[in-house]
Amino acid sequence: MTRKKKKIVILGGGFAGVECTRQLESKFGNDPEVELVMVSEDNFLLFTPMLPQVASGMIETRHIVLPIRTICKKTKFYEGRIKNIDPFGKLVNLWGTGDKRSISIHYDFLVVALGSETNFFGMADVEKNSFTMKTLNDAVMLRNRVIDMLEQAENETNPILRKSFLNFVVAGGGFAGIETAGELMDLILDARKHYHSIYKDDLKVVVIEALPMILPGFNEKLAEFAKQKLIERGIDIKLQTAITSFDGNEVTTKSIDQNPKDPLDESKVDSIRTKTLIWTAGVTPVSTIQRSMLKTDRGKVIVNDYLEVQDFPGVFAIGDCALFLNPETKRPFPPTAQIAEAQAKTAAKNLIALIKNSKKEKFEYHSKGQMAIIGKRSGIATFLGMNISGFWAWLIWRSVYLSKIPTLDKQIRVLLDWVIDLFFDRDISRLKIMKREDEKEYKLLDEVDDVW
Ligand SMILES: Cc1cc2nc3c(=O)[nH]c(=O)nc-3n(C[C@H](O)[C@H](O)[C@H](O)COP(=O)(O)OP(=O)(O)OC[C@H]3O[C@@H](n4cnc5c(N)ncnc54)[C@H](O)[C@@H]3O)c2cc1C
Repeated sequence: MTRKKKKIVILGGGFAGVECTRQLESKFGNDPEVELVMVSEDNFLLFTPMLPQVASGMIETRHIVLPIRTICKKTKFYEGRIKNIDPFGKLVNLWGTGDKRSISIHYDFLVVALGSETNFFGMADVEKNSFTMKTLNDAVMLRNRVIDMLEQAENETNPILRKSFLNFVVAGGGFAGIETAGELMDLILDARKHYHSIYKDDLKVVVIEALPMILPGFNEKLAEFAKQKLIERGIDIKLQTAITSFDGNEVTTKSIDQNPKDPLDESKVDSIRTKTLIWTAGVTPVSTIQRSMLKTDRGKVIVNDYLEVQDFPGVFAIGDCALFLNPETKRPFPPTAQIAEAQAKTAAKNLIALIKNSKKEKFEYHSKGQMAIIGKRSGIATFLGMNISGFWAWLIWRSVYLSKIPTLDKQIRVLLDWVIDLFFDRDISRLKIMKREDEKEYKLLDEVDDVW
């Protein structure tokens, strides 16, 4: 009688899912008794730290995505959207489409690594009208939007409208927000050369952050350095300010007083005219997690010291969707790729321990440092215990992140993009790759000068 294979199913092809799968492949890749299966919505790993550089046109779109089939070669891959997870029946169900029946996949062991999605904190108007920076599509859409705004502004005669085309607001002063603001400034300053009526002073990038500092989690001095550098480059930074609405034309904000005496004080309310709000102000675990029967807190799956899910031995949750408290601060770890990969390694070791009947290990995290780039060949880094800022931090960022891209061909492509960017201007073609909107015909207002 043949023994039944043990099936490990990994949900999510992001940093956590891919790293865990690669660790498991190195142990079980040639083991006929273990089957590895991955399910993910996209058939590629998105290298998010370089996403803002795709939005600014510095890196070509396909150079920061890595097809799962080329990096996890010994795993059966299903491209599909997970509908629900049934930990009692040990089943994962996928959505069907018009052309495809939905399927169920049985597992013996499960790794949940479904990441997070943008959190709009219930503001429906912001969700409807703003741009986000989470997926490849987001980066491509933002780049097209920015170029479109420059095209519109170049020939616009109404000064108020023109200003709103050239104001860009970024919500959130974390990794994604600051790197996006820095890259955005580089793009518009570079592209401006081709728009003869747009001057440097016409362009404005504003970062709005609810906390009293940007880049929380970084050393305070480094975060302050980053803030000053951004301000020197013309980026306006509004701290302790919350966005309350965005109707597509105007962002309204409210300053958050640490000790408000009069919360209804109108002087604390402000607004910025803009057509482009980029929302990077928060993430929340994907809705699939919230719908599952796994125990959650603040939407994240609660895990024990071994990253196993409460009540379900053999089910692990890792990365942005897992709730693991930092033993030092008693607060959840921030959602970063570095932590996702560290958790993936521990989860893989513990799965191996379960299958081989050996001892599991607790998750312990030792930061290898932190880095952020802020545009114009400048950055900040905590690296090998040192705090570094400016050009050297930028160079370290590039070297470290280039080495982290899993395949040589994509490393070379990104490197070439960076070299090309040193010598040539950015491409300002606006690609209309979205579904074409129906054109509307308005009645001509011949004798009216001011139609606004
Ligand atoms: C612009 C930006 C810049 C960043 N910069 C940095 C940085 O410099 N350094 C750093 O450490 N971190 C950075 N991060 C954070 C980092 O990207 C995340 O912390 C990391 O991606 C988390 O990994 P994960 O595997 O948990 O989730 P993800 O990488 O988000 O992967 C989740 C996967 O699950 C899939 N999925 C989700 N729901 C479903 C479903 N229902 N069905 C099927 N598949 C599904 C997704 O398609 C995805 O493949 C940045 C993030 C952004 C957005």
